Amino acid sequence: MIPYPSPEQRELELVELVARASATIPGTELIEYGRSVEQRPLHVVRVPSPASTASSVAPRVLVCANTHGPEFIGNRVCVGMLAKLIDDPPPPLRQLHERAELWLAPCLNPDGYARTHARDGAGTLAQLRHNHRGVDLNRNWPLPTGARRLPLPGAGSPTPGDATYRGPSPLSEPETAALDQLLTTQKFHASANLHSFMGTMFPPRVRTRAAAMAYARLCAALRQAQPHTRYLRIASRVFDTFTGEQEDHQHHAHGCWSICVECFSVRASLAQSFGRRVPLFWRFNPRDPQPWVDNDVPGVAAFLLATLDLPPAHP
Ligand SMILES: [Zn+2]
Repeated sequence: MIPYPSPEQRELELVELVARASATIPGTELIEYGRSVEQRPLHVVRVPSPASTASSVAPRVLVCANTHGPEFIGNRVCVGMLAKLIDDPPPPLRQLHERAELWLAPCLNPDGYARTHARDGAGTLAQLRHNHRGVDLNRNWPLPTGARRLPLPGAGSPTPGDATYRGPSPLSEPETAALDQLLTTQKFHASANLHSFMGTMFPPRVRTRAAAMAYARLCAALRQAQPHTRYLRIASRVFDTFTGEQEDHQHHAHGCWSICVECFSVRASLAQSFGRRVPLFWRFNPRDPQPWVDNDVPGVAAFLLATLDLPPAHP
């Protein structure tokens, strides 16, 4: 699965990048915020902002990736935020760091990553996507107060073995429980959650037209900063039905401007696998990740930067 790193290479790369970053950005640190079911560390990198002073901390923004096992490109984009910050950041990333503390959690599901890598990316979605207990971590979040679950495919299944099995109860899994604790303690102003492979942006389901319009503007900022492939916004939805996805919980329970970004594109995915039997992995990830890292790092940074001009997203 070259050019994607093995689990061990991925961890080593992160340690080395943090060491390089801390030489120019003092205080940059690797934090273990929890452990997966199989006891792999859950890592987040904190990059302090020059805007923080002794008496006040700059707003914090979070980029998450790889909550689904096979979605390695999201991991590359998230790690790419740190790599580009060290060497010649694109303007939106430089401006973002000048005003906000960056938190990067590049692999929310290290057990799913390891399983995908061990199988050379071959298998069904239900075999690769989950954590070690067969739970879809992006359906394991609590629903907002007073909300109901949408009775449609993709909304989170109560049946073990299904691709979107939501688990026995919200936050039943150590990966989601640890991240929710981090969300509670750090009070992030904004967050981007990276998936693949549709080339789309999914804002949270919101309850007011004003919030939907704010997300439309934030998505436009993301798109406009993408140099070669501009992602499609799937309309901000004003709904009272929910699916247990991370960005809905972040917006409604933590007051955090949040978005799900599906990196890569349907067209490019089809072009590299059309008419051939390829492992599932190559539907989700580009053969060459670098152009997509170059495309998505400025986009994600521009989204987060645009949120800094807004007050907190109220629950
Ligand atoms: Zn995903």
